[in-house]
Amino acid sequence: MFYQLAINFCILFTFSVLSYWPFQDRDRFRIPRQKFHPYLIGTMAGITGLFLLRAAVPVAEGVIVDARLPVIILSGVFGGPIAPMVSSVIIGLARIWTGNFAEGAMTAGINTMVIGLIAATVFFRWSPTFRSARFVFHFTVFQTAAVIVYIQPPGTGAWLNIVLFLCYSYLSFFTVAFILRELNTHFRKLEGVEQLSKTDYLTGLSNNRTFGEQVQTFTDRQEEPVSLILLDIDRFKAVNDTYGHPAGDEVLRELAKRMKRISLPDRAVLSRNGGEEFSILLPGVAKEKGTAIAEQVRCTIADNPFIVDGGLSLPITISLGVCTFPDDASDAKELYERADQALYRAKESGRNLVVGYGPQPVP
Ligand code: GH3
Ligand code: MG
Ligand code: MG
Repeated sequence: MFYQLAINFCILFTFSVLSYWPFQDRDRFRIPRQKFHPYLIGTMAGITGLFLLRAAVPVAEGVIVDARLPVIILSGVFGGPIAPMVSSVIIGLARIWTGNFAEGAMTAGINTMVIGLIAATVFFRWSPTFRSARFVFHFTVFQTAAVIVYIQPPGTGAWLNIVLFLCYSYLSFFTVAFILRELNTHFRKLEGVEQLSKTDYLTGLSNNRTFGEQVQTFTDRQEEPVSLILLDIDRFKAVNDTYGHPAGDEVLRELAKRMKRISLPDRAVLSRNGGEEFSILLPGVAKEKGTAIAEQVRCTIADNPFIVDGGLSLPITISLGVCTFPDDASDAKELYERADQALYRAKESGRNLVVGYGPQPVP
């Protein structure tokens, strides 16, 4: 009997990992048609239930113990309310079928479907988490215990069966839930670390590393023009020297906010490349439009002073250099260097200016 219960637990555990990992770790696994995931998870749980029924432990005439209850409830945690409805119908019908439509099998099968319905109702009302799943579990496990009392023939082992069912259900559900919750915590932490490694801590924009990867990706494709705007705050050192470093940080954050508010093409990448230098990478944007966007950014910064340090009003300006692949540059490195040259010329020409990369004007 214990051997069969152990097999039951192994099936439950395998299902949990298989239906959890690929669907939760969306960075690594991209299972298409997300809309259908609840049905897919529900069906997987249903099929798992068929294996569980096959490995179930018969404890009395017409009474079997298995891990179908945790599977149905966990399918709801992974797939939302639809999943337990699908899985419980599959498992419930299979229970009736394999029990040859006997009265006990009918009662147990219908009870399984009711459990799915209860789980779905709770997960519709509250979000499907391990926490809400616990309540569904407590409720349905006692409901099922009552059903077992009802369907099993009266006899000496009756209470023992209930104790066995309760112990097994609690042990299997909470062991799996604990392991998955731990996995979940690790996934979230990893996601957080991954996000941190891609973004600039002060402004929340992409950092220089992400910027470098993106420029490389877009230029390597050679499918479309890519414009790059490099921008640098004018005389920023004076802001720090006069008002202090924290005020300077506030200016950097406000600048990033203003950049984010500008409506840019969908795939635009905003980065802080270091210090007070920022960039806007515009895949699919040709030179003329890139220059127009740069001018728009310049005005967004220069037109209204920055309010920092609880009311201090600072007029801030930026200088911008624009370069476009493949018109002005043949690869990512050249694109960056030439945008930087254009920015340098904007500084030289008096600041608060947009300069596009091109041949030097004859003096
Ligand atoms: P220019 O118009 O030629 O760009 O002059 P600038 O003063 O802006 O340029 P410079 O390169 O001389 O000075 C850049 C300053 O940016 C120096 C440094 O103190 C400041 N800075 C760099 N990173 C940060 C930061 O994270 N926070 C603050 N508050 N200041 C920073
Ligand atoms: Mg500067
Ligand atoms: Mg600078």
